[in-house]
Amino acid sequence: MSRRFLSIGECMVELSQAGDGLLRKGFAGDTFNTAWYARACLAADWSVDYFTALGDDAMSDEMLAFIDKAGIGTSLIRRIRGRTPGLYMINLKNGERSFSYWRDNSAARSLAADPDRLREAVESAEVVYFSGITLAILPHEDAETLLAEVRRAKAAGKLVVFDPNIRPRLWSSYDVMHTTISEGARSSVLVMPSFDDEAAHFGDDSIEATIHRYRALGAIHIVVKNGADGVTLNFAGEQTFVPAEKVEKVVDTTSAGDSFNGAFLARYLEAGDAPAAARFAAKVAARVVSEHGALVPREKLGLDGG
Ligand code: ADP
Repeated sequence: MSRRFLSIGECMVELSQAGDGLLRKGFAGDTFNTAWYARACLAADWSVDYFTALGDDAMSDEMLAFIDKAGIGTSLIRRIRGRTPGLYMINLKNGERSFSYWRDNSAARSLAADPDRLREAVESAEVVYFSGITLAILPHEDAETLLAEVRRAKAAGKLVVFDPNIRPRLWSSYDVMHTTISEGARSSVLVMPSFDDEAAHFGDDSIEATIHRYRALGAIHIVVKNGADGVTLNFAGEQTFVPAEKVEKVVDTTSAGDSFNGAFLARYLEAGDAPAAARFAAKVAARVVSEHGALVPREKLGLDGG
């Protein structure tokens, strides 16, 4: 039986500028991006599945077909009558990017509203990945359901992985954000934060402080990403620093962290060597920031020594 990597969250329709006022349609979202890179980097004896909820409209059908075409399993995805996927637009003004979102009523907000289905999905997987964004979009009660499920998975010895991915505007208050993200970390085995977010929103004054805070909550392994300044790993207390790769021209940093996570996990699951996995992931993320868009195709990731 193949081993299953399950990623839980929201994939959205993405509209980006294509010139002359035209918009290009794509699909992306933090946990989906990580599933994409995990799929690109994992061997075929692993299945990568996405857990979300979609509507029953044409756009949901198209997204489902896109996920399937990427080699990511869609059989666990819930379809909800009358709902639609969330949408965001990338605006460009004088070279600066900004984002507009339409996701308040997206189908994905109901992804944990069917607890039996969620339990079945989590039980079927060996690795469970979710993020602070996954928690932020859920109604409070459903976030509690998801947290209880991942706690169960952690107790059962599964690798539960959490990226806090802190987005204050998705949360009703700082208090709720701090409490829920801390609960997400407590319920996980491996936490993969980005230092700039942690410093800005938890007030950490050093990478050590971030590691200390998450370990004190009960996470066992921590990988702190710090952009071009590399990553610090703390695996069961053992600390290693892995530098970033040099990038000639940074084109688009969208999904740098998501791609790092996907590539890191793929390599870590196969070889169990965290520093080696981080070196590999730094190479993949360097390719990703050298290209446009969140989802860089496998052929451009330099995986086969290219
Ligand atoms: P996030 O996108 O979550 O904020 P980071 O900015 O920390 O994450 O980036 C994640 C990873 O992407 C880094 O650990 C590094 O490997 C790579 N990366 C990001 N920016 C650069 C850069 N300018 N040069 C080289 N690598 C980078």
